Amino acid sequence: MTEAAPALDADVLIVGAGPVGTTLALALADGPLRVQLLDRQPAGAWRRDPRALALSHGTRQLLERLGAWNAAAATPIRGIHVSQRGGFGRTRIDADEHGLPALGYVMRYRDLLAALHARLAEERLLAPCALKAVEPAPAHATATLDHQGETRRVAARLIVHAEGTPQDGPGLTVRDYGQHAVVCEVTPAEPHDNRAWERFTPDGPLALLPVGGDYAVVFTVPPDKAAALLALDDAGFLAALNAQFGGRARLVAAGPRASFPLSLRLRRQLARERQVWLGNTAQTLHPVSGQGFNLGLRDAWELAETLLDNPDDPGRAGPLAAYARGRQTDRWGSALFTDGVVRAFSNDLPPLRALRGLGLLALDAAPPLRRFVARRMIWGARAWL
Ligand SMILES: Cc1cc2nc3c(=O)[nH]c(=O)nc-3n(C[C@H](O)[C@H](O)[C@H](O)COP(=O)(O)OP(=O)(O)OC[C@H]3O[C@@H](n4cnc5c(N)ncnc54)[C@H](O)[C@@H]3O)c2cc1C
Repeated sequence: MTEAAPALDADVLIVGAGPVGTTLALALADGPLRVQLLDRQPAGAWRRDPRALALSHGTRQLLERLGAWNAAAATPIRGIHVSQRGGFGRTRIDADEHGLPALGYVMRYRDLLAALHARLAEERLLAPCALKAVEPAPAHATATLDHQGETRRVAARLIVHAEGTPQDGPGLTVRDYGQHAVVCEVTPAEPHDNRAWERFTPDGPLALLPVGGDYAVVFTVPPDKAAALLALDDAGFLAALNAQFGGRARLVAAGPRASFPLSLRLRRQLARERQVWLGNTAQTLHPVSGQGFNLGLRDAWELAETLLDNPDDPGRAGPLAAYARGRQTDRWGSALFTDGVVRAFSNDLPPLRALRGLGLLALDAAPPLRRFVARRMIWGARAWL
């Protein structure tokens, strides 16, 4: 006797209720598909996440269409000052120059998730519930889940992987940057005037992003220096930060610190056997140019359109392969841009320092170049068009 196929429990099972998985669930919520979202963390665990994210204007527009734009928690970026430590050249990019009220916005990860989860019907989320294994079959895939210590099996026409940064594995191209991002919120002595700072140091880029009345710091340094920065008391940490800016931005108070290891992780195949990968699990980028979530959101948006166009069988190979092909320019463009910036700026070789200075001067003198960089920030992928 053959075992009967398990009853279909969902059309689309989304694994990972981070910002990308939750955005996809919301984008599908009013359509005909039965969608189940799950996360291995208890509901609300995202409230402890220390990150702040730079969001593009395009991201704002998509979140507004989902009714999940957290306007009260968004700090506009009206200008960015870009410079390098120990070298000449600097440039400023201003929103006014592009006829927009803001180049982008800064929002804490937890505020982004709060707005997304507020729109989500409670029964759509199963948490804590971890994906353990997937068995693909021609008409469905079966997921084995650990739901609060009990094993459950769920069959779905499509399993969407949105689990965030993946472990090393055979389907991934990985470049370890040998850097960690130390994140923290700091208070400036003077009002920040909605200006962000991007400072390239020999250890790695250092960003100050305005968030509320404070700055969110993303300080990328080698792992041993990250450990040393985490071990400092607040006064020592502030002194280390202030030294990087040579008195240009004076910081007077610091909140709790955390660190994240940084690598580039690119999944070679985005769709196969009734499964699709998006967001950080498809591509994890260095945070230097603030592309990661903006890119993952576009993954979710385009996947939702593909699935809603194929409601009879959202796991069909043809449309999923077309979705995967359609994402290549955006993901490779974002990955190459980000990787290029990290590699060109994270070193102290004198010829490169001079070239970087010339690059910053050229950027400052050439409005079309500046417009290109600004468009990447404002629109993401559409900057290439
Ligand atoms: C320091 C730092 C700064 C950044 N700054 C920016 C920025 O300025 N702008 C920007 O756009 N991006 C930025 N990013 C990137 C951004 O944080 C990510 O791109 C974004 O969080 C990816 O969302 P995600 O939903 O794919 O993954 P995640 O946010 O990692 O969420 C994944 C979810 O999946 C769950 N999960 C994992 N495994 C399982 C499993 N087996 N079963 C069930 N659930 C599971 C996890 O619990 C988690 O809730 C930054 C990243 C870092 C580290």
